[in-house]
Amino acid sequence: MALPSAKPIVFSPWNDPDATPLIRIRGVSKSFGDFLAVNNVDLDIYPGEFFSLLGASGCGKTTLLRMLAGFESPTDGRIFIDGVDMTGIPPYERPVNMMFQSYALFPHMTVAQNVAFGLKQDGLSKKKIAEKAKEVLDLVQMSAFSERKPNQLSGGQRQRVALARSLAKEPKVLLLDEPLAALDKKLRGQTQLELVNIQDRVGITFVMVTHDQEEAMTMSARIGVMNAGFIEQVGTPVEIYEYPATTFVADFIGTANMFDGVVALDEQNRTVVDCAELEAQLTVGHSSGVAVGAPVTVMVRPEKMTVQREAPQDGLNSVHGVVSDIAYLGDISIYHVRLNSGRKVQVALTNLRHTSEQRLTWDDEVYLTWHPANSLVLVQ
Ligand code: ATP
Repeated sequence: MALPSAKPIVFSPWNDPDATPLIRIRGVSKSFGDFLAVNNVDLDIYPGEFFSLLGASGCGKTTLLRMLAGFESPTDGRIFIDGVDMTGIPPYERPVNMMFQSYALFPHMTVAQNVAFGLKQDGLSKKKIAEKAKEVLDLVQMSAFSERKPNQLSGGQRQRVALARSLAKEPKVLLLDEPLAALDKKLRGQTQLELVNIQDRVGITFVMVTHDQEEAMTMSARIGVMNAGFIEQVGTPVEIYEYPATTFVADFIGTANMFDGVVALDEQNRTVVDCAELEAQLTVGHSSGVAVGAPVTVMVRPEKMTVQREAPQDGLNSVHGVVSDIAYLGDISIYHVRLNSGRKVQVALTNLRHTSEQRLTWDDEVYLTWHPANSLVLVQ
């Protein structure tokens, strides 16, 4: 007999019309003088979600996070947390806690004292504080270091103490501003998974700001991709990679080959695009929903293409060019293929064999082909 599960097997409350968001952001904008840093954002974040705001430097993600924390006030719009309008509510009265990029640990206090600090301010008894501090330090596996000062810890250990301190107050929402920025690449990778496991165990809603797409993809249930103050798309990592809504998202997340053209035919499961640059028609395996003649962009990811030396037989979706650069990355190689028009297309091949047995080399003439279902029409 199957035991009842505490958590649904697939966590996707955003697909449940009866689910109530924990955070509701409605029409929120923020101007600094004439400059619009956050532009009319509408967003729902659900209880227990690990949500990331992802975007390039200066896109407004930190400003949006700071408005959730109460460190900035919206110029327009409203933020509701757990059904309560946050307008005019100061940071310390909000059910949120913010973990800063710098970790902001007190240097003169031990690890245990750092964690206890906020609890003391809340007026908890000594016994309760000691219990709570031990519980969160156990959670982040830092109990053995409780008497050390921050300068006697590595960057990764400081990060875990900062996390423990933030979790100790049991906020409904933990806001994380580039929480792993200070860690080196390898430690970042490990810590990303640790952080996700901890979030899963405590069940607190995490909202993280990052400019690192790999980090956002690894850690988040959903991602909001921001551009110039605007949320371009909200979706699961799979949705934003496989089905980007805009050319900006397609380009920002991973690598995308994009071909501009105009719609020649639009059917229920097929769009044909006239692509002047390629002097060819491209077929995409879904409807674009726009009129014949409308300008569109066809997107194909590098790993969705295949390479062959012979001209393909069926004539569907193929471009011809010459290998101009090869980037060997160990597990995969990226081939840059220069087309007749001079523009370059990237194709990724998994290195199943040793390099000495590579199939392709510089100046090889090749055909790149792809199935219509592996490409996407983006409306301009
Ligand atoms: P980063 O990853 O570099 O931190 P970000 O996406 O988090 O970037 P924000 O910090 O939200 O960006 O800033 C968005 C824009 O608003 C930037 O152009 C920034 O210069 C501007 N800005 C932020 N805070 C202020 C402020 N207090 N006064 C004036 N402009 C500000």
